[in-house]
Amino acid sequence: MSISVDTLIIGAGASGLFCAFNAAAYGKSVLVIDHANKAGKKILMSGGGRCNFINRQVEPRHFISQNPHFVKSALSKYQPEDFIALVDRHQVAYQEREYGQLFCKHSAKDILAMLLNECRTAGVQIRLDTAVERICANDAGFMVSTKHKRNDLAITIQASSLVIATGGLSIPTLGASGFGYQVATQFGHQIIPTRAGLVPFTFTDKTGEMIKSLAGLSLDVVAYNDKASFALPMLFTHRGLSGPAMLQLSNYWQLGEHITIDLLPHQDMIQYLLDAKRAHPKQLIRTALTPLLPKKLITALEALLWQAYQDTELANLKDDIIRHIGAQLNAWTLKPSGTEGYRVAEVTLGGVDTREVSGKTMESRLQPNLYFIGEVLDVTGWLGGYNFAWAWASAYACAESIGMR
Ligand code: FAD
Repeated sequence: MSISVDTLIIGAGASGLFCAFNAAAYGKSVLVIDHANKAGKKILMSGGGRCNFINRQVEPRHFISQNPHFVKSALSKYQPEDFIALVDRHQVAYQEREYGQLFCKHSAKDILAMLLNECRTAGVQIRLDTAVERICANDAGFMVSTKHKRNDLAITIQASSLVIATGGLSIPTLGASGFGYQVATQFGHQIIPTRAGLVPFTFTDKTGEMIKSLAGLSLDVVAYNDKASFALPMLFTHRGLSGPAMLQLSNYWQLGEHITIDLLPHQDMIQYLLDAKRAHPKQLIRTALTPLLPKKLITALEALLWQAYQDTELANLKDDIIRHIGAQLNAWTLKPSGTEGYRVAEVTLGGVDTREVSGKTMESRLQPNLYFIGEVLDVTGWLGGYNFAWAWASAYACAESIGMR
């Protein structure tokens, strides 16, 4: 069986669905295919089931790419207010959390329903359970051979434009695959090496054991390295360190590097302990820290950072030793053994090299009428609704380009 459409979009996720109804609005016939049995699985999982669908303030600095200017054009064309207006039109109830993050009030299902509704109204066809077997460029665009995963029905699709919206590698159980990178490579594109992003850190040895013993504890910290710094909560877990501060920092971390955590960002701990020595010379370090940190954490830090002095009164500690301990509390430096990887990562860093893609239209500079949108590109957003912001903005730029043809 063979069919012909103006636009074929591979990937019925956030960017694919958004591109589909926007391209169809220009009168294009649009088909979206996906190998999964359901569209938008990641949307449903996002934001803890509430989908942090946008941030009120989206700027290029919220994105990581080898080519940082790439995002500018698309982000300026499609802005948070545009998506908020769409959400309002569909009467999706939402709430604003800290840092301008907008979440569904009830369920992420509302965002997926909105996108599917728009697709239905615009006449977009969606075929699920459909695997792509081959893509060939021809004079009329692209010939894409597909097979239905359940009934083996083979369909060849002829399309003038082909949009790759297959996302990154994060969470394979939600349909993630490296397919988009394969297609990009087929047409001569370079791939910026990929790695898991917005992902918790893991630790081994003594530090790992200590962290595990504190599972469930959350603390406002400043987490940083030489590339970035985030003042956000950190969470101790059975597997390592998580919470927004760690997820954000993971985007700027490579295997083998250290991270530093200021456990008491509002307190100069050297000064605090020196003052305590003068005011309460008979105190132990742990007693001096009691008003500032949870007891469990003080006990764990004691075993790690000042075990030799745990029973020494402050009066009997040299100022240099106090300075050393104070400095470590403000700059606890750790070397993660790794991250929890793609199994739980919210995003994939790296991807299709954006230097070979137009930032205005998302069209390949190497193959006419081939587009890459969303997370498959080497564009990764911060935590806070920025990854969906990129999915919407890149999809919009692409749809506009297709529509103008
Ligand atoms: P996706 O939405 O991943 O869609 C890709 C689609 O392509 C999928 O449907 C997949 O089945 C399909 N596909 C893959 N391979 C093939 C193939 N070979 N053939 C056919 N189809 C294929 N971002 C935010 O901004 N806010 C959040 O609250 C948020 N929460 C998240 C929570 C979790 C747990 C995760 C994993 C991610 C979260 N993200 C969040 C990130 C966000 O979901 C993604 O950045 C966004 O979905 C990317 O959109 P996309 O269209 O590029 O890819």
